[in-house]
Amino acid sequence: MFSELVTGNERPALRFGSTALTYGELAGVAGGVAAQVIGRKRVAVWATPTPETVVAALGALVAGVPVIPINPKVGTRELEHILSDSSPDLLLGGPDVGVPRLSVDLGAAVALPDIPVGDEDPAFVVYTSGTTGPPKGVVLPRRAVVSNLDALAVAWEWTAADVLVHALPLFHVHGLIVGVVGPLRRGGSVRHLTRFSSADIAAEFASGATMMFGVPTMYHRLAADVEQDAELASAFGRARLLVSGSAALPASDHERIARATGQRIVERYGMSETLMNCSVRASGERRPGAVGPPVDGVSVRIVDEQGDPVGAGEVGEIEVRGPNLFLEYLNRPDATAAAFRDGWFRTGDVATLDPDGYVRIVGRRATDLIKSGGYKIGAGEIENVLLEHPDVLEVAVTGEPDDDLGERIVAWVVAAPGARPAAEDLVDHVARLLTPHKRPRVVRFLDSLPRNEMGKVTKRALTA
Ligand code: ATP
Ligand code: MG
Repeated sequence: MFSELVTGNERPALRFGSTALTYGELAGVAGGVAAQVIGRKRVAVWATPTPETVVAALGALVAGVPVIPINPKVGTRELEHILSDSSPDLLLGGPDVGVPRLSVDLGAAVALPDIPVGDEDPAFVVYTSGTTGPPKGVVLPRRAVVSNLDALAVAWEWTAADVLVHALPLFHVHGLIVGVVGPLRRGGSVRHLTRFSSADIAAEFASGATMMFGVPTMYHRLAADVEQDAELASAFGRARLLVSGSAALPASDHERIARATGQRIVERYGMSETLMNCSVRASGERRPGAVGPPVDGVSVRIVDEQGDPVGAGEVGEIEVRGPNLFLEYLNRPDATAAAFRDGWFRTGDVATLDPDGYVRIVGRRATDLIKSGGYKIGAGEIENVLLEHPDVLEVAVTGEPDDDLGERIVAWVVAAPGARPAAEDLVDHVARLLTPHKRPRVVRFLDSLPRNEMGKVTKRALTA
């Protein structure tokens, strides 16, 4: 899985703050972990943003033992659920919960074992964000990880010369698998920042970093920062690739960053169950609001409730097939069976297709597909248009039961600093730019939107 680790050379692999490890050092430390975990069923890692988290994951991967990354901010109830669901043999870090300890010694130099690992062997059990319900343990086989990282390498023209900077948490597929295992598989290096800061990332670009992976909330802050600081903007302009994912990147932020830096963000779409399904190519057109075509080897279709492909431009659910798919939800055969239809994985996300095959995510079937007055309306389209209004800072659109319409469109709006937008004004804006039936019937103003740690709006929390 990692040729450079086996070679154990002196090239840089990881940097977290003042701790840096070459591939040779990383191999020695990961070897120390592998020696402790060989033969175990599963190991859990309290996934703090530290080199220990990465080393534990790599050592277990090399030893063929699945890794369960745990959000270090997890609450007691959720932690109990994860531990009883996944029953790890060892735990690195975190509180004493009666599970024997895994230890990481950053000074260790233990030879990496040469253990045969099968393609279908589980590599990770990743708990979903719980945006729509209690977290489920997604069992990802090695085949999914390897094939997806290789497809992304093609899409992003990713090489050993790339230096990735990221400030993402390490308990999701985005930060840990794409953001750490990805660069290390290619032989490049990772510089991890504990906190997102435009200035710190710009400093990394000035000293050799080539790529950044981030979530839309980061790019939203970046848009404001680069509009105010030309030097910062030119540092971001020098990057090879800025990638966004985990939630929809508003088209307005894409455009603002492009105007200030000359850099068009590459958007990709993925999830715990599938890793990355779609991505704009490094050499392709970077179209705001679109996540590009499926990555190599992955098939995507957009279907109606019966599973029949929808017409051009119509909203439907995204279904996915390919080597990137997970094996199962741990201990949830019911949920696993319900997630598939005729061999296709039902993502629960809704989208439309541009004529050339670029996918546009509209949102989630459960919360973002609003059925109002006989129309199927995607929340994402309305959100994007409202964000173009100068008085709107943030917005989430939901559907609410309505006697007349079935569902009525509700816009939850955070006003821009100092602005006092009138509801009618926002409603007219949508009616004028889209069509009248897509206008919100209710506008509610909030100080901020409820978000989880990946910056995703938790729409379940939005109730009147
Ligand atoms: P849960 O499954 O527990 O409800 P979750 O779906 O948020 O939580 P993840 O697997 O971490 O957990 O996130 C995947 C979801 O994130 C996708 O299904 C999709 O809704 C959203 N997503 C990811 N990338 C994008 C993107 N580029 N644009 C829009 N949405 C995205
Ligand atoms: Mg999900």
